[in-house]
Amino acid sequence: MSRTEDELKEKIVEISRRLYQRGLVAGAGGNVSVRIPGSPYILATPSGVCKGYLSPSDIIKVDLNGKIIEGKLRPTSETPMHTEIYKVRKDVNAVVHAHPPFCTGFACARVPLNSPIFPEVIAMVGEVAMVEYVTPGTKELAIKVAEAAKKYDAMVLANHGTITLGASLEQAYQRTEVLEDYAKVLLISTLLGGPKALSSEEVRRIRGLDAEKYRLEYIKHAE
Ligand SMILES: [Zn+2]
Repeated sequence: MSRTEDELKEKIVEISRRLYQRGLVAGAGGNVSVRIPGSPYILATPSGVCKGYLSPSDIIKVDLNGKIIEGKLRPTSETPMHTEIYKVRKDVNAVVHAHPPFCTGFACARVPLNSPIFPEVIAMVGEVAMVEYVTPGTKELAIKVAEAAKKYDAMVLANHGTITLGASLEQAYQRTEVLEDYAKVLLISTLLGGPKALSSEEVRRIRGLDAEKYRLEYIKHAE
């Protein structure tokens, strides 16, 4: 096993712990994966284990058809959702799937998270898709999610949770964290009389030069 693989396993463990500690997943929920650079394989979290207490030896290496290459546990039941995304998005190196309570509240009410109120979300996450409900862990869900992933870096899965993509584990994770904050802010501002959306001109401005600067700053800090 290469040094890179060891480091990526450590990073998956760290990201999984952060997801659990921030309450973005509960029980054994959620899953995380990363592409191994220059190889046809990914590393993924195991099924049925709490994300707060993983160790690097729990992480499983699989190919993009879900075949186990290395590891003693079963990979996440959502492995197809991860592998289908890697097949359609060559620029994506990491995928985080979580059940953050506020985002999942919107997902259960089927209220889209698409109000342009929060510059950080516009710049760092982009538009958020709502993927229609499909039974978790099925190939059908994986296909639906991969279809949305062609256009979006963040998705809310109806009655289920969230999935965010990134060029790195850190970026994919931070998108989940920011998305959950956004769901909280949107709910609070709705209770306070309704959010005041930014103008489409302002949204364009944020997505333009400023967003590029934001992203560069952000990537510098994240790596
Ligand atoms: Zn799930």
